[in-house]
Amino acid sequence: MINVASLAAQLVQLPTVNPPGRERLASDLLAPLLADAGLQVTRVGVDGDRETLIAVLPGADPAARARIFTGHLDVVPVPDAERLRWASEPFSGEVRDGRLHGRGSADMKGGVSAFVCAALDLARSGRTPPADVILVLTADEEDLMLGSKAVAGHPLLDRDADVVVCEPTSLRLCTAGRGRTWARITLSGTTAHGSDASAPNPIQTAARLIDALAAEDLTASPLGWTGSPERGDQKAGTPHPTDRGTVTADPNDLSAEPSGNPEGQALRPPSGTRPESATGTAVSTGEPGAHRPTGGPSFWRPLAIAAGAEPCVVPDSCTLTVDARLTPDHDPDDVWRRLSAILDRLALAADVDIVDRREGWRTPPTSRLISDALSALDAEGLDPRTGVFAGTTDGTVLRRAGRGHGVRDVIILGPGDLAAAHAANESVALADLAAAQRLYARLMVG
Ligand SMILES: [Zn+2]
Repeated sequence: MINVASLAAQLVQLPTVNPPGRERLASDLLAPLLADAGLQVTRVGVDGDRETLIAVLPGADPAARARIFTGHLDVVPVPDAERLRWASEPFSGEVRDGRLHGRGSADMKGGVSAFVCAALDLARSGRTPPADVILVLTADEEDLMLGSKAVAGHPLLDRDADVVVCEPTSLRLCTAGRGRTWARITLSGTTAHGSDASAPNPIQTAARLIDALAAEDLTASPLGWTGSPERGDQKAGTPHPTDRGTVTADPNDLSAEPSGNPEGQALRPPSGTRPESATGTAVSTGEPGAHRPTGGPSFWRPLAIAAGAEPCVVPDSCTLTVDARLTPDHDPDDVWRRLSAILDRLALAADVDIVDRREGWRTPPTSRLISDALSALDAEGLDPRTGVFAGTTDGTVLRRAGRGHGVRDVIILGPGDLAAAHAANESVALADLAAAQRLYARLMVG
């Protein structure tokens, strides 16, 4: 019988590198394992040799709120320069010093293996969970989340359910997630001879825009916000149309959570990926609702730029990709309203292609999912403090997909350190994989 460490090692050896993904390599391994144990397996094609796998272990009450466990099968590439910094071959699945090494070991083939093994054990035990347990193993989480989007409207998921996202959190419980939105902004001109000093240059126009983006304080009140409830010009509890609840009384307020983390500590990607101003846990004083854990202020910055063909030609366009990372309550649309105001102010014409909007979220502290997770952590002797997840996950998509049931309750809880993800010498402790499997086993019958 397969154990969590050997399953994770086998998955790491499958190069489901995105792009192109090829997640079917992993689902070809997992689907027969799950089917043989008695789960009902459905494979949903995404594109080419990419697919998302849904496996259902029926519960005693088919109408009871199901529990979805989700993880992605794709991994980020290992660039040539990064490969030189690896101490072992990134796809060997080597176990050394009590840790599984390799691309995807922490993000997140370890987490996937832990919940798959928990479901296999439960199915083989003959014990029936109280409610359906649904595993959703997705493609393309590392890019456009096509895999979770492909199954969002699937009949198997069109039901009342909670979602456990098994991404790496060092086994810390995240009850909120930060938002993200990004866009490609193209500034156009016309090609001209490089000797023409008067020819408009889109690269220099982009530089002006980059400066203006850096000067904009995203932590200030959302654009269009004209006051605060404290000043009496809006009734507390009535969300402003430009701000989904940031400044209003909210029954879902995590600060009321006894085990809540008052610092709002974010579980975030490796240092160096955030600007200095955003590295602290303190919340900007300008941010409304600063008592709510946010994982740090909202910020944006360009992360890609493309322009130019030849050194002798003034280019006819420059495209910037601007990425914004947002507090859980910050409406992604606010970011693009601000951009549009900046473009107006600078009198710039630009083509703005908003690639994705991933709103942040908070799960109410009264959620049964959170209390079950806290009980499971307590039973395993693990840290019960909660945090805010810094990245975005399939949980954002699957949370919205509760058609007719409102948004779903989501938590993120998994083995591995997010700081190890997307970096050289990624690894995960075997002990954490085993602990995660025990946590998920509890949550499947909780
Ligand atoms: Zn991940």
